[in-house]
Parts: sequence; C-alpha cells; structure tokens
Amino acid sequence: MKYLVSSCLVGMNCKYNGENNYNEKIINFLKDKQFVIACPEQMGGLQTPRAKSEIVGKEVITEFGENVTGQYEKGALETLKIAKIFNCTHAILKEKSPSCGVHMVYDGTFSGIKIQGMGRTAELLTSESIIVLSEDEIDLE
Ligand code: SF4
Repeated sequence: MKYLVSSCLVGMNCKYNGENNYNEKIINFLKDKQFVIACPEQMGGLQTPRAKSEIVGKEVITEFGENVTGQYEKGALETLKIAKIFNCTHAILKEKSPSCGVHMVYDGTFSGIKIQGMGRTAELLTSESIIVLSEDEIDLE
C-alpha cells in the first residue's frame, strides 16, 4: 500500500497564504508507510502565496473573480501522474480545499460556508480508483 499525501499536511508551505497544515497525527501515521507528497495547486502553475479560490459550479474562481479552472485541472492531472508513477493505491488529502477536499468544500460564496463536495484532484483520483481519505479519517488506533 502506497500513499499520495497533500504536501501541506506534512509541513510544506504550499498553502494559498504561504503557510502549511502540518498535522502530527499524519506524520506519525506515515512513519512506517511508503508515501509521496504533492501539491496540486503549485503543480497546476499557481504561485504561493496565491489568491483564495473556491469551486463555483463547474469552475474554480479566485476571490478576485479570476477563472483558474485550467490551473486546477492541470494540477489534478499532474497529481494523478505522480500517483500512477509511484503506484499509489491510497491518498490522504486536506479536507475543504478546492483541490484536495474529500468530503467538504467551501460553497463558492467566500463566506466560510462549507458544503458536501470534492476538490478537483480528489475527484480525479477517485475516478481512477485511488482510495481517497481526508486527514480526519486517519486513525492511529
Ligand atoms: S492544493 Fe492541496 S496540497 Fe496544496 S496547499 Fe492546497 S490542500 Fe495543500
């Protein structure tokens, strides 16, 4: 079993605001596992820091109204490429991100409201039969 993991969860400063989502539980879980890390948004060509984006219908739009759907789609494809090269069967992705969200994403109004839904990368990995889990679903027991 090999994992593809959102880079921000292991401490890479690739988040939109230039920070990370370091998660000690994930680090401990990965200690005896094989894994690779990836940040779809950076691999899609977006800068860090970058504008906050949300899924609006079929598109991804920044808080300033720019359509960045193409970069999100490219990032998803690049992430899938990594997952395939390294034979990843599972992915652990950051919940609520418009790329990595597994069960929840923001509703597209930039008002902090969350709805059920998947980020672009999580959706693509799932469609390719990779088992996608959020950081909240990793249990150390
Ligand atoms: S795209 Fe994914 S890996 Fe990159 S910062 Fe956002 S949640 Fe983390």
